[in-house]
Amino acid sequence: MTISSNDLDPKFKFEIANIPGSELIKRCFTCGTCTAICPVSNTFAEYDPRKIIHMIILGLKDRVLSSENIWQCSHCETCKFSCPQGVQLSEIMGALQNMAVRDKYVTPDAFEKFGTAPCKATCPVHISIQGFIGMITEGRYKEGLRLIKETMPFPGICGRICHHPCEMKCNRGKVDEPLAIEYLKRFLADRELEEGIRYIPEIEEKKDEKIAVIGAGPAGLSAAYFLAIKGYPVTVFERLPVAGGMMAVGIPEYRLSRDILREEIKTIVDMGVEIKTGVTFGKDITIESLKKDGYKAFFIAVGLHVSRGLNVEGENLDGIIHGINFLRDVSLKGNVTIGERTIVIGGGNVAIDVALTALRSGAKEVEMVCLESREEMPAWEDEIKDALDEGIKINNSWGPKRFIKENRKVKSVEFKRCTEVFDTEGRFNPQYDESELMTLEADTVLLSIGQACDMSFAKGVPDLDVSPRGPSVKDPITLETNIPGLFVGGDASYGPRSVVEAVASGKEAAISIDRYLKGEDIGADRPLEWKGIELEPQDVEHLDRQQMQRLSIARRKNSFEEMDLGFSEQQARLEAGRCLKICGTQNRGR
Ligand SMILES: Cc1cc2nc3c(=O)[nH]c(=O)nc-3n(C[C@H](O)[C@H](O)[C@H](O)COP(=O)(O)OP(=O)(O)OC[C@H]3O[C@@H](n4cnc5c(N)ncnc54)[C@H](O)[C@@H]3O)c2cc1C
Repeated sequence: MTISSNDLDPKFKFEIANIPGSELIKRCFTCGTCTAICPVSNTFAEYDPRKIIHMIILGLKDRVLSSENIWQCSHCETCKFSCPQGVQLSEIMGALQNMAVRDKYVTPDAFEKFGTAPCKATCPVHISIQGFIGMITEGRYKEGLRLIKETMPFPGICGRICHHPCEMKCNRGKVDEPLAIEYLKRFLADRELEEGIRYIPEIEEKKDEKIAVIGAGPAGLSAAYFLAIKGYPVTVFERLPVAGGMMAVGIPEYRLSRDILREEIKTIVDMGVEIKTGVTFGKDITIESLKKDGYKAFFIAVGLHVSRGLNVEGENLDGIIHGINFLRDVSLKGNVTIGERTIVIGGGNVAIDVALTALRSGAKEVEMVCLESREEMPAWEDEIKDALDEGIKINNSWGPKRFIKENRKVKSVEFKRCTEVFDTEGRFNPQYDESELMTLEADTVLLSIGQACDMSFAKGVPDLDVSPRGPSVKDPITLETNIPGLFVGGDASYGPRSVVEAVASGKEAAISIDRYLKGEDIGADRPLEWKGIELEPQDVEHLDRQQMQRLSIARRKNSFEEMDLGFSEQQARLEAGRCLKICGTQNRGR
C-alpha cells in the first residue's frame, strides 16, 4: 500500500510534526533493522518498533498512544544510527510517551513507575550506556563513540579516571559484578585514537553572539563544546600555559595519558573553539573589557587551585610544599626534585596522587599521615591499595603538632594522636590526645589537606555575589548569578567533586547561555528527573568481569607511564556481552 501525506489524520499529522525527525518517519520501508537490533525487542517479541512506526504512518493515533508497547522503549539508543532511512526511533518513542501522558491515555501518576536503565539515570551526564555497550557487542565502535560524544566530550578521559557512579547501580552487580562501563568507554576512545580519525560533532547553523568562558577545566571546556555545537563563537581564557584544568595539572600522567587529554581538547579546538592560555581573568581581562570586545554571555569555571594550610608551627619552612603545587610543577615542568624521605600529610585521593607522584620523582621512602582511621579515610579503596602496593606506609589517626627545623629547612614533623575526627553530628572536629606523640624525619613534606577557590578572579567582576568559598549561584540548576548573562559552575561553585560532574555543570551552563541569548525561559523544564529501574535479575548465568591489564608494580614505581593498559577488542566484546540490557522495560523518555 502506498501512503501519501493526505492519508494521515490531520491532527495527528500536526502533532507528529513536533517530534524530532518526524519528517523522516514516512520514509520507513519497514525493513526491520530497528527491530532486529533492539535489545527490548530481542527479549520481548511483542515489542516491535517497526510496527509502531507503521501505525504512526497509518495515522492510528488511538492505537499508538494507548499501546502498552510504546512504554517498552528504554531509550538505550542501540538503534541510533542503525536506520538506513535515518528515523530517530528513541526520540520518537519519547515524544509518543509524553503525548500519551498529556492526552490522558495513561493516568497522570503513570510516569511515576517509568524509568530508564539505572546506569544512564545515575551518570551525571546521562550517557546512553546500554546503547554504546550494545554497539560494542555488534562491533559498531565508531557509532558507540559518537553516542557518548552526544552527551559529553571526554570519553577517553572519563574512561580512565571517572569515579563511575553508573557501575554502583548496574543491575548486573546483583548477579556477580557490575559491568566495567568506565573501561568500555575507554576502549572506544582508544580505538579512535589508534585509528587516527577523530569524530568531530556536527555544528549547527553559525550564530553571531560571542561567548567568553573563563577557565579551561572540564566545566569550561564542556560548556565551550556544547555551545560550539550550537554554532556560537566561543573563546576560552585560561590562566595556565596549558588547557585541561586539573585534568592537565592535577591528575597525574600515570593515571591519565596526556595524549588522550590533548586529543580530546584538540577536537574542541577543531570545532572552532579558541583557547587562549596564559590569560588571567581579573588581571589581564575583566568582564568590562570582554563586553567591550563584543562578548554577550559569560561562563566562569575557575576551579579550586589554592591549597589549604594547616596553621601549625613551622609550616612555612623550606622543604614544605603544597601537594597541588607539586603536582602542577611535575605536570608543567616534567621533573621536580624532592627529598629522598618524603611525608605526605592528608588521607584523600589527592594525597595518594601526591604520594605516588613523589615516588616517581625521586623519593626513596614515602609515608602518608592522616587524621582518619583506615576505615574513615576519604580516599577510595582502590587508590589506597595502589599506594600500599607501591610500598607507601600509611600512618592513620595522627595530626601534625609542629614542624621541626634544621637551619631554615624542615628536618622532622611531630604528630599528636588523633582520637576522633568527626563529632556526633558528623561535622569535622578533630580531637587529640597530646600525651601520645610521634616524630618522623623528613627532607620534604607535602601538604594535601584540601583545596579552595583562588578568589582573585573576582577582581574581574566586582559586582558578582561571592562567598568566602567561591562565586555564588542564584539558581543551582540554571547556574545563573546576580549578573544577567553571567553563569558560574564547576568545582569553584559547588566544592571539590569530579570531572564528570564538572562536565555536567558545563553542559547545563551551555543550555542556559543558549536560552539566555535567544531570550527564552532559562529555567523551563529543568531539572529533568531521572529514575533508574531496579531489576531483581533471576536465573542469569554468572560471567566473570574482564580484568584490565596493568603494569607491574616494579615498572609503575619509577615511571609516569600509564599504569592501566586498556581492554583488548576481545575483552571489550566479552565484557559488553555481560550487559543485562533490559534494565527497565518502561521509560518516561528523554
Ligand atoms: C590531584 C587531583 C586528582 C583528581 N583526580 C580525579 C579523578 O581521578 N577523577 C575525577 O573525576 N576527578 C578527579 N579530580 C577532581 C577533578 O579534577 C575536578 O573536580 C575537576 O577538574 C573540576 O573541574 P573545573 O572545570 O570545575 O575546574 P578545574 O579543572 O580546576 O579548572 C579550572 C581552570 O580555571 C583556571 N583558572 C583559575 N583562575 C583563573 C583566572 N582567574 N583566569 C583564567 N583561568 C583561571 C585554572 O587554571 C583551571 O585551568 C582530581 C583533582 C585533583 C586536584
